[in-house]
Amino acid sequence: MARYTGAVCRQCRREGQKLFLKGERCYSDKCAFARRSTVPGQHGPNQMRKKVSEYGLQLRAKQSTRRYYGVLEGQFAEYFDMAERKAGMTGENLLRILESRLDNVVYRCGFAASRKEARQLIRHGHYTLNGHKANIPSILVKSGDVVDVKTT
Ligand code: SF4
Repeated sequence: MARYTGAVCRQCRREGQKLFLKGERCYSDKCAFARRSTVPGQHGPNQMRKKVSEYGLQLRAKQSTRRYYGVLEGQFAEYFDMAERKAGMTGENLLRILESRLDNVVYRCGFAASRKEARQLIRHGHYTLNGHKANIPSILVKSGDVVDVKTT
């Protein structure tokens, strides 16, 4: 799957919240959102005063979730379809699916400083899943699966 390769910190500024996409830097005073929290672009500061519609609120919530997990539009739509087909609340199912992505699990385990870093390390073949090579960041990990650092 493709990945977002554009400017990173502007995503936090666009969403109006820290998404913690850059690891260490996000916790330092170099954080772009801490230094300048306006919406990016020439008219960004004016946009902050605009009234946001219900649709706008929902769109921002969707975009920030998608950006937080580093997933592009197409794959996010697929995850939403999967979540809708499962029993239970769609929102919870969606978060469960996003949390079970291998790059997220590696990040949550503390093997990487950010999901982006986790994704790169996975692509470079540094982890195994149940003892087998796992170099696809979007693999959905199930409960009981064993994620480990490749030693040889
Ligand atoms: Fe967002 Fe991290 Fe950039 Fe701050 S440093 S704006 S939290 S990605």
